Amino acid sequence: MNVYDGWRIAAMLEHHGMQRTDEISDADIIILNTCAVRAKATDKVFSALGRIRRAKKKSALFGIVGCVARESGTDAFRRIPDLNFVLGPQSYHKLPQILENPDAKLFNIDLGGLEKFDELPQMEKSPTVAYIPIQEGCNHVCTYCIVPYTRGREISRKFDDCVRDTIHAANTGAIEICFLGQNVNGYKYTDENGTTYRLSDLIKQAAKIESVKRIRFTSSYPTEMTDDLIEMFATEPKLLPFLNMPIQSGSQNVLTRMNRPYSLELYTDIIHKLRIARPDIQISSDFIVGFPGESDKDFEQTMRIAEQIKYINSYSFKYSPRPHTAAALMPDQIPENIKAERLAKLDTYLNEVQREFNISCIDKTFECLLEGPDKTGQHLIYRTPYMQQCIVTKSDNTPAPILTKITITAANKASLRGKFAD
Ligand code: SAH
Repeated sequence: MNVYDGWRIAAMLEHHGMQRTDEISDADIIILNTCAVRAKATDKVFSALGRIRRAKKKSALFGIVGCVARESGTDAFRRIPDLNFVLGPQSYHKLPQILENPDAKLFNIDLGGLEKFDELPQMEKSPTVAYIPIQEGCNHVCTYCIVPYTRGREISRKFDDCVRDTIHAANTGAIEICFLGQNVNGYKYTDENGTTYRLSDLIKQAAKIESVKRIRFTSSYPTEMTDDLIEMFATEPKLLPFLNMPIQSGSQNVLTRMNRPYSLELYTDIIHKLRIARPDIQISSDFIVGFPGESDKDFEQTMRIAEQIKYINSYSFKYSPRPHTAAALMPDQIPENIKAERLAKLDTYLNEVQREFNISCIDKTFECLLEGPDKTGQHLIYRTPYMQQCIVTKSDNTPAPILTKITITAANKASLRGKFAD
């Protein structure tokens, strides 16, 4: 979501005649797009702001946009008095005001809704992988999560607007469409005729576009995984056989205290149905360890569920208490060393499964999408249908095919190596 917001901000400033630079000391405006989901991300923002302040031209404008702006509010100006702007995740379209009036401080952390989508100019050229936001905010009030506070209540965008943006992305270069939302599979829009559209309807529309070859969506909430959506995995070949569906914990007790009121049976049942619909599907998850009150036994249950599902790729985090959340006030916070121990144990296991899956891909051939050259310029980086990074040696001067069959020749935990299939 932040990558998408970053593109829109860059495109908007280009529209105002600005150009990108990699040098802080060259820049006339420096914008930090920020994430507040864990304390570490927020802390990094303020240390980065300190560095930027020292490295930038004296006249350059600088500020923050996104969730840390929303979370810290006017306190950001108190911490860094020469900041020029602080704009929340739904107000960054107001950024050009600072170009018109550079001497005034610009501050807006309102949660208005979808205004930004209408006010921003369309991007002239889409990246090969186009993110299409179909929803803002989230209505699941998970007790650890700051998102409902920073990005507000859940609003699904109009179906026609999502389709229009998808077509525009396809017409300007997108090959892969990734629908975005905090609770993306809960997408629901009812138009003035009373017709309700779901994510499965958006997938069907995107699949009809000839130049769109791959479709995915992130991130999903287990109970929103309705049968119409599961069915898409059986009937729509453009939908990639890969799904991120965070479980967070394998303990029913912990899930209840996280206010994620789904049963583990329901979760494993959905995975079972998905595997029947699409036998080659693979699943990834997010995990939080050390949630308040998590016992050794609770944590062992998380290990058991990981062993049962065999996620091929996961994001795991130590629980981080966040302002405005219920869990931060729970009495039985887990000591840092226990959180670290549990995370190390879970990560060791998840990494091993990931490595095994990558190795099982050797000698298989996948249709892969070009991401670009690597840092050395000697190799090309592709993405498999499971989002694995696959490195291919560049062949002399022939242009690299954008979507092509690649046979996997070697693998480790982090990536694959491959060659163009004959
Ligand atoms: N709706 C998104 C949430 C984005 S945050 C989703 O469900 O994926 C991405 C991940 O960060 C969450 O899935 C969760 O695993 C993790 N996370 C969120 N709040 C956290 C916190 N307070 N401490 C540690 N990890 C957290």
